[in-house]
Amino acid sequence: QTDTLYSLARRHAAERGQAYAVRDCARRLSWNALVAWVDVLAADLHEAGLRRGDRVSVWLPNRIESVLVFLACSRNGYVCNPSLHQNYTVAEIATLLSGIGCRALFAQPDYGADARSADIFARAATLPGMQRIYALPGLSHPGRAIPAPAHALPEPGRPLRLPLPAVSTNPDQVVYLAFTSGTTGQPKGVMHSDNTLLANGRALVQDWRLGHGTALLTLSPMSHHIGTVALEQMLVAGCELVLYDPLAEVAALDWIATTGATYVMGVPTHAIDLLQESSRRGWQKLGAVKVFYMAGAPIPSETARRLLALGATPQNVYGMTENGSHQYTRPSDPVEVMTGTCGKSCSGYEVRLWNAQNPDLEAAPGEIGEIGGRGGGLMLGYFSNQSSTEQSFNRSGWFLSGDLGRLDAEGNLQIVGRKKDLIIRGGHNIHPAPIEERAHRHPAVRKAAAFGVADARLGEKVCLAVICDERAPMPQEMLQHLAQEGLSKFDMPEFYAVAQEFPLTPSGKISKRELVQWVASGRL
Ligand code: ATP
Ligand code: MG
Repeated sequence: QTDTLYSLARRHAAERGQAYAVRDCARRLSWNALVAWVDVLAADLHEAGLRRGDRVSVWLPNRIESVLVFLACSRNGYVCNPSLHQNYTVAEIATLLSGIGCRALFAQPDYGADARSADIFARAATLPGMQRIYALPGLSHPGRAIPAPAHALPEPGRPLRLPLPAVSTNPDQVVYLAFTSGTTGQPKGVMHSDNTLLANGRALVQDWRLGHGTALLTLSPMSHHIGTVALEQMLVAGCELVLYDPLAEVAALDWIATTGATYVMGVPTHAIDLLQESSRRGWQKLGAVKVFYMAGAPIPSETARRLLALGATPQNVYGMTENGSHQYTRPSDPVEVMTGTCGKSCSGYEVRLWNAQNPDLEAAPGEIGEIGGRGGGLMLGYFSNQSSTEQSFNRSGWFLSGDLGRLDAEGNLQIVGRKKDLIIRGGHNIHPAPIEERAHRHPAVRKAAAFGVADARLGEKVCLAVICDERAPMPQEMLQHLAQEGLSKFDMPEFYAVAQEFPLTPSGKISKRELVQWVASGRL
């Protein structure tokens, strides 16, 4: 394949230039307008001294500029690093930026959860190699002044500064450097090319029949890989990408209805929260939503069932930053989603289970094994970490996910959980997912997390923590409920806690590592 992200955008501009390409809470751009602005920005970055292979970082909420920077990087052959999460502190960001040798940064002064997030401009200016820092005023509070060392983003209509660099035409060089969610340890930098990213986009668009008429809305930020998957699909299908920014003064549910979104992407928590809000308002439908794409974490079957009742087909998409987030699954029957599987591998991708102890051997049929994958969307490798790259492939060249799974008789993949989340109590292996799934079936439970806590005699014991909408079930009541739902007595939790909130990773996943610390420190 010879296309790049940028060449696809250009093609849509040439073929359907007036059609809408991207929308955020304040603006809506056609393909023509988008590509023209990308060229202006590409010229500005070149003038600032950036050259092929240079790293460009983005610390922005979901707004059109996140797409703009991505495409400008693809055009000029730079590497876009969009994965600086909102919750990172200024110090964490500075460390990540210096680790990747960042040469240009785009940031919004009031974005961070850190009250001093505007300090990022002063910190970034001290990093060696930093060529240019752009400050973008917030869309809802545009009055903020731009801090001293930073530049304003060039306006869309500005005349091009010449000479413009040649358009990069190599779709196999690194264009994307994303950090993993950091659920199991330090976030790892993952490198992708235009080709590996577009392999995902092509598979999704083909399998899920997206077209010009699709209104694709992402609830996940562009800083998460799901946001990038949304961009890939927009570029392959030539449809409009609608961005949702939780900082904007509009509720997600209203934004979905206003924009007429037909295909919504996010993590299961987004769906859980939307369902709660729509039932509070007595909605019978979720706007025009036909498909609800959820990736990144297990979907409670109750959530899938309630989505279906509102006319939206739930999709349980399994993947990770390293494999372009979704390749393992093609559209599955909603019933499969409700019974906890995420369907079959999608076009151009293969799944195989490997022995959990020795990943060079295949798992026996029907057995739980480590999920391995192969296909065009696989990363080029971890950034500046050759040994982790080598360790993540087995001898036959399959990428090892670190997740355990099982294939049912029809070949549907069922995720059992992360290898690292496995709870080993007195030599007995306990998987958290079946406990969580059953806890979710209790009508009062909104969120549930099962994890191991250290025990001097047994090694680990099982803890179940829940967040409830109404009166929380008492411990005895919860145990009875789990037993009624078929949880074996060997897997029963011995600690039970009702929480007001869960610690989340920057991409919104429940952080079990922190939950364990909460228990150890008595916070839970
Ligand atoms: P890190 O690699 O830094 O520990 P992470 O693995 O959470 O963080 P991501 O690449 O964002 O970073 O997430 C991929 C992981 O999310 C998968 O390996 C898997 O554990 C989990 N996951 C993704 N999709 C699903 C799904 N549909 N069901 C269950 N788990 C899922
Ligand atoms: Mg991971």
